[in-house]
Amino acid sequence: MPTSVLILGAGFGGLELSTRLSEELAGAVEVTLIDQNDSFVFGFSKLDVLFGRRSLDDVRHFYRDIAKPGVEFRQETVTSIDPDTRRVVTTGGTYDPDILVVALGAGYAPEATPGLLEDGWEFYSEEGAARAAGAVSQFTSGTAVIGVLGPFFKCPPAPFEAAFLLHDFLAARGVRDATAIHVVTPLPKPIPISDEVSRAIVSQLTERGIEFWPSSKFTRLDPATHTAHLEDGRELAYDLFLGVPVHRAPQVVLDSGLAENGWIPVDVRTFATPFPDVFAVGDVTSAPVPRAGVIAEGEADTLADVLIARIRGGGDVPPYAGAAVCYIEMGGEMVGGVDVNFLSGPSPTAVLRPASPEVAEEKRAWADDRRRRWFS
Ligand SMILES: Cc1cc2nc3c(=O)[nH]c(=O)nc-3n(C[C@H](O)[C@H](O)[C@H](O)COP(=O)(O)OP(=O)(O)OC[C@H]3O[C@@H](n4cnc5c(N)ncnc54)[C@H](O)[C@@H]3O)c2cc1C
Repeated sequence: MPTSVLILGAGFGGLELSTRLSEELAGAVEVTLIDQNDSFVFGFSKLDVLFGRRSLDDVRHFYRDIAKPGVEFRQETVTSIDPDTRRVVTTGGTYDPDILVVALGAGYAPEATPGLLEDGWEFYSEEGAARAAGAVSQFTSGTAVIGVLGPFFKCPPAPFEAAFLLHDFLAARGVRDATAIHVVTPLPKPIPISDEVSRAIVSQLTERGIEFWPSSKFTRLDPATHTAHLEDGRELAYDLFLGVPVHRAPQVVLDSGLAENGWIPVDVRTFATPFPDVFAVGDVTSAPVPRAGVIAEGEADTLADVLIARIRGGGDVPPYAGAAVCYIEMGGEMVGGVDVNFLSGPSPTAVLRPASPEVAEEKRAWADDRRRRWFS
């Protein structure tokens, strides 16, 4: 009898895991991959949408294109998860798999910042980026604020990428001199694990005249005065507020009893949760690594190794190294690369490869490769 594997969430983690299991265990597993959406969007494509470079329809990759032996995709919403019995209920039915993998990612709570929904634009969700694109296109003078609203968020470089791209966007329309750009974050530096990479980002901000406020936490926006208030009493008036919203695990995860302090704890060597035969990967976990697609993919690869070894009766699997390349859009069609390694050494490391057309090409090839592997 094939082992039944139910994967909840077809993002970076779920797509990579289902691809690996199909490639290496066809016939030995029956994989069901569930997502509420009909398509996947790379996180970085949201910045293309925000700056009007591509439409939302342009950047969707449809799950109906998945044709992998032993994998069935179903578009359903997960409504309950019982980790003790591994019973999962969705809008399409009830599942009792041998192995359950939760890869439901991180959701957003824009309502956690008073005033954001009324007077600002979150640009982290697909729809949010498309809505904010309208406001960005109308912004021709005054102050734009890119505000990180929680201490922990997807893709640490993304707010800075947004600032560099906003600078280019305004310069191309001849209105950069009539505008100011601020990046405000509760973190002490752009990339907390690396002074070198952080200094490089800050120097690029300075070169473009972009104000950077680290260790600064917004508490609310006042729609009446278009002023953002900070915890330490400072205020910042804005004409355009682009927010990285507070992140939360999906409600179905919070209701399941799987989460502790808001996220699912895992053994970072195997991605096992405390519940037998229940695993979790990606942004939904509290693994001590950043929330990023490249990290979720690496975790899924380690979990694939664990499941392959178990189903084939194989031996030990090397632990997850926490290593990946994070690409940073620097504007001017240039991309930098940060080689991070979180778990292999005594402390996390990050090494910057300066922005260049070659790294931009490397990023394109990386994304093309995922599109080919996952959607065929
Ligand atoms: C603006 C921006 C730029 C980014 N740039 C990069 C980058 O350059 N490089 C990088 O590596 N990362 C980047 N990221 C981060 C990256 O997108 C995420 O870290 C990554 O998608 C996490 O993968 P995941 O598999 O854990 O979750 P996700 O990819 O979020 O997948 C989770 C899936 O679960 C589904 N789901 C949730 N709840 C339910 C439910 N109840 N029922 C059914 N389905 C459900 C969702 O629809 C989703 O498809 C960026 C993110 C943003 C917002």
